[in-house]
Amino acid sequence: MKSKGICYLVGTGPGDPGLLTLKGKDCIEAADVLVYDYLCNPVLLRHAKAGAEKIYVGKKAGDHTLPQDQINGLIVKLTREGKVVTRLKGGDPVLFGRGAEEAAELADAGVRFEIVPGITSAIAGPAYAGIPVTHRDHCSQLTIFTGHEDPTKPESSLDYAKLAAADGTKVFLMGIERIAEITGALMKHGAAADTPIALVRWATMGRQKTLIGTLGDIAEKVKATGFKAPAVAVVGNVVNERKKINWFEERPLFGRRIVVTRTRQQAGGLAKQLTELGADVIELPTIRIEEPLNRMAFGELVQDVHTYDWLVFTSPNGVDAFFKMFYKLYSDARSIGGVRIAVIGPGTAEKIKEQHLAVDLMPEKDFVAEGLVRAFKEHQSMEHCTVLWVRGDGARETLANELTGLGAIVDEAIAYRNVPEKEDNLDVLARLKEEGADMITFTSASTVDCFMDLGLPLPAGIKTASIGPVTTAAMKKHGLKVDVTAKQSTIPGLVAAIEKFYQ
Ligand code: SAH
Repeated sequence: MKSKGICYLVGTGPGDPGLLTLKGKDCIEAADVLVYDYLCNPVLLRHAKAGAEKIYVGKKAGDHTLPQDQINGLIVKLTREGKVVTRLKGGDPVLFGRGAEEAAELADAGVRFEIVPGITSAIAGPAYAGIPVTHRDHCSQLTIFTGHEDPTKPESSLDYAKLAAADGTKVFLMGIERIAEITGALMKHGAAADTPIALVRWATMGRQKTLIGTLGDIAEKVKATGFKAPAVAVVGNVVNERKKINWFEERPLFGRRIVVTRTRQQAGGLAKQLTELGADVIELPTIRIEEPLNRMAFGELVQDVHTYDWLVFTSPNGVDAFFKMFYKLYSDARSIGGVRIAVIGPGTAEKIKEQHLAVDLMPEKDFVAEGLVRAFKEHQSMEHCTVLWVRGDGARETLANELTGLGAIVDEAIAYRNVPEKEDNLDVLARLKEEGADMITFTSASTVDCFMDLGLPLPAGIKTASIGPVTTAAMKKHGLKVDVTAKQSTIPGLVAAIEKFYQ
């Protein structure tokens, strides 16, 4: 009987997470096991369902984590076990990706498989450096070859005489280590030394770097600048188009490496906005959101929500936790009754909107506890008002104290806990240590506390950005200087302040 298993050989695109195909995303979501390489962006693994197994078989040039025949054996074995196996490869799986060999092994073994093409770095890499691989003014032919083989060896299967003579644009992958031999061989067979060439490293990602030169001088430039793999090389007059259309590298935060310290679940919004402005974002999860210690007590307060005058939220996490519990207890949205809803700021308001509820009260500007208290004062007398405040375990007591001072009766529902994240960030910490960063962002006092808990030395000269006064105070308490403070304590406010800082 045929196994129920299937193996998807998926191209993940060159790195920009938005360049994964919809079909590729479906395959990641469906996977029981993901088998992935060095060149596929690990961010994509977040599409995986909870509990999916993730196996890294990456090879960084020369240092093979798992030899190809063992990778073949592994995916055949997993598929035979009846699993949905999603094999992720950078770029396109069959362009210098050995996808065809893996497919042949699967076919041989008689298990089901599908090939899901991806956007190749050979075309997307140059495009993100403002270089189109074909152009009506320059060429109508494109040659793609591998730079992996040593052109000076007789057994090379590449014919450099033919390559040099070929019209049009040439793109080669895996060529940085042998750049001098490759450019030398092309020139030896007649290519002009002043032919433009561009090397694009970590193309399509925030950390993209482009080096421009000619066949004659690029090897020297690579040496002088310490330019390294992985990079795609593009040779031909199309390189000159970059002067007109270098769109990706001209965005306002391009080249800035910015650390985002948030919970895994939440990092998305800030990271995405900074990435869209061109920043190289390193997401460093410092806290994880967990269930409150006393779930029973939380549940009882949620159950009685309809009996209160006001329901107050001071974080998006609180809204999520509240409604998760609410819909465990009730199946009808109307069970929330006539309670009015107050929130601390726009991020939290957004979450309420997602629940198709209206916000009755929000501070006009200061999106902190003090601002919310002021808003209540201006709104009505709080004398004898009953308030249910949904909060995390570490929150300041300001809100409860002040509202009680105004005569309100405040019950506090601890909806979640902030727990330091210690497991999920080892790769990121290594990258941070190795490459440093330009700026680190903090979006709550607890991200500051948890970051300091990691005991990580801050890279020299790093700038810091704070979302607002409470976070700033926490930073100062730990002896951190504060270079940027958001005017408005919201994610867009923080992003605007960072953009202004670098203008
Ligand atoms: N199947 C892949 C290529 C795999 S060979 C694809 O279609 O893109 C590995 C080589 O691809 C690297 O040595 C480098 O030359 C190139 N490459 C892959 N991703 C890249 C990226 N993001 N930036 C620059 N080069 C990349």
